[in-house]
Amino acid sequence: MELGLTGKRALVCASSKGLGLGCARALAEAGVNLIMNARGAEALEASAAAIREEFGVEVVTLACDVTTEDGQAKLIEAAQGVDILVNNAGGPPPGMWTDWNRDDFVAALDANMLAPIALIKALVPGMMERGWGRVVNITSVSVKSPIPVLGLSNAARAGLTGYVAGTARQVAGSGVTINNLLPGIHATDRAVSLDKGMSEQQGISMEEAKARRAATIPAGRYGTSDEFGATCAFLCSKHAGFIVGQNVLLDGGAFASAM
Ligand code: NAP
Repeated sequence: MELGLTGKRALVCASSKGLGLGCARALAEAGVNLIMNARGAEALEASAAAIREEFGVEVVTLACDVTTEDGQAKLIEAAQGVDILVNNAGGPPPGMWTDWNRDDFVAALDANMLAPIALIKALVPGMMERGWGRVVNITSVSVKSPIPVLGLSNAARAGLTGYVAGTARQVAGSGVTINNLLPGIHATDRAVSLDKGMSEQQGISMEEAKARRAATIPAGRYGTSDEFGATCAFLCSKHAGFIVGQNVLLDGGAFASAM
């Protein structure tokens, strides 16, 4: 399917690995020039070089922390005039509901709610002026079905979801769509660290922890970054202009719901 994205420019935050990288790769395959970001320069440069080599698109890299005001200022400056914004950052650590203090909540809100909102506020007005734009926020299945040990994530992502629900409807008339992509368990470093948490907490091997988590998914396996990226590219495509303010769940059927 021709996605109609050739020559567009995208900022893909937190994209040296995992789901962000999956989105960057799928957009590059569709002919989108990229600004890629992560904190660690080495993995970022390696992923950018691989994308340039494989897809022949332009890739600019910006090593900075998207959760800080300084990082956001650098990204906003580099991303002036972009057509597509993919918001992403690392997820907050797991724990018990009694563990977290105010600073923990503020850090989670900065990373998973206020950073994407800052980038939306800075970059969407230009998209509206040009009459076309796409924003995809990587959130989590926890928005629909809270994961008890990820209370910080549940809380911060619920805040972003509420903001997007209203904002998407305010900007849609200018040709800009904002949607959220909700990953269930995907085979990335984040999944490995959550497998490790379960293995330590329950005194079982990593293999057993992964098998137990996979058994909770009707598809019987973890998702892949490529599948996730392909869905992101479709939401950014010319075919998706009527998809507004949606929460698209990619979880292999794990969240059981009639609709
Ligand atoms: P991942 O494999 O650990 O990759 C995270 C990527 O984000 C890396 O490129 C990392 O590079 C970058 N990053 C992290 N913190 C950053 C920051 N502050 N500023 C800039 N870049 C940053 O994680 P993932 O599995 O792709 O997860 C992506 C998001 O989806 C996370 O918020 C996660 O909680 C959420 N999620 C994932 C799953 C899953 O099963 N994988 C399920 C539900 C939700 P650097 O470390 O070098 O910065």
